[in-house]
Amino acid sequence: KTWHQTGLSTKILDAIKKLNYEKPMPIQAQALPIIMSGRDCIGIAKTGSGKTLAFVLPMLRHIKDQPPLVSGDGPIGLIMAPTRELVQQIYSDIKKFAKVMGLSCVPVYGGSGVAQQISELKRGAEIVVCTPGRMIDILCTSSGKITNLRRVTYLVMDAEADRMFDMGFEPQITRIVQNTRPDRQTVLFSATFPRQVEILARKVLNKPVEIQV
Ligand code: AMP
Repeated sequence: KTWHQTGLSTKILDAIKKLNYEKPMPIQAQALPIIMSGRDCIGIAKTGSGKTLAFVLPMLRHIKDQPPLVSGDGPIGLIMAPTRELVQQIYSDIKKFAKVMGLSCVPVYGGSGVAQQISELKRGAEIVVCTPGRMIDILCTSSGKITNLRRVTYLVMDAEADRMFDMGFEPQITRIVQNTRPDRQTVLFSATFPRQVEILARKVLNKPVEIQV
């Protein structure tokens, strides 16, 4: 399979070429058509499989189909991950594409200065990558004045979704999800698929297509 068979826009294909990703990895070849058809999707894939771009590329297309950002708008794409390291890693993958495509992305995580995160969020961004804890803090302490999730129509729960539970994030995830749009598209990626993750998936995803690599 080639990138041209994926149905991505010329702008995204140009960015992919510039970044030297020669051809889609198996998880990408499987996930892209499903996610781009608008279906919810559960992907069972390990870190290193290429799962980040599998949910990032369709997100870029999804956002490009929406009206342009107005200052102070909340994100359209929201990605949740369990650790700061993972948020930073996803952010650095997104940033390369966002730059080329004129989109803005803000990383939101604990353990570092909240002031910059707040000022970037206030300015408005199409994409937010966050740990659930810091995101809840920001949403609650400001009662929606810093940012809000009313425009979120593309939601991702990434990686080691199982780790989200070890870390006690489930109530926070549920709260965040409740603040997004009910007609959103939702994608979940996890290295494993234990019962807890399955229960969460059933609550948050709508008739998901399951894929595994
Ligand atoms: P991930 O599983 O998302 O953590 O990705 C693993 C690594 O593979 C990252 O460093 C990506 O930049 C890289 N990668 C993702 N997609 C491709 C691709 N189609 N071709 C080559 N490398 C890729």
